[in-house]
Amino acid sequence: MHRDPDPSAACTHAHCDVIDAEAVQSRARSYAASKGTRFTPTRQRVLALLAATGKPIAAYEIAEKLSGSRKVQAVQVYRALEFLQEAGCVHRLASRSAFFACDHRHGEGETVVFMVCSQCGAVQEAASDLVARGLRGAAKTTGFRPRHPMIEVEGECAKCAGESVS
Ligand SMILES: [Zn+2]
Ligand SMILES: [Zn+2]
Repeated sequence: MHRDPDPSAACTHAHCDVIDAEAVQSRARSYAASKGTRFTPTRQRVLALLAATGKPIAAYEIAEKLSGSRKVQAVQVYRALEFLQEAGCVHRLASRSAFFACDHRHGEGETVVFMVCSQCGAVQEAASDLVARGLRGAAKTTGFRPRHPMIEVEGECAKCAGESVS
């Protein structure tokens, strides 16, 4: 029986380790269709791997993990990642040159804060209006126009912080 999603279980932007793999795949597929391009097997495999990993990983690691009898080249992975980032299904963590899947539907130009755990490497996302306003204010004073406002913060996730306490 089909059940409608419970609105009270709406995205809280804090569950990046639990990715809805099917949802991101179908989002990437319809994005490809809207652009008149193919959701190629490499694109599908890269996204599936990232969704299953749930943590940021580097492009060369993706290439290694996807290589079986036929070697997957890093350049293929980079091309797939480019597409997946455009499609809004994957983020790049600049501080680590690593990529991770995202099943939030960010608004155009939405300010996203990535909270990166330096212990376990997990990333949690938060979309904060307060941060967005602060950023706009700061940018205004310099005349800078933020296009993809993404902020990376290193620290300790609740799980790791809890473990170090006990
Ligand atoms: Zn995201
Ligand atoms: Zn952690």
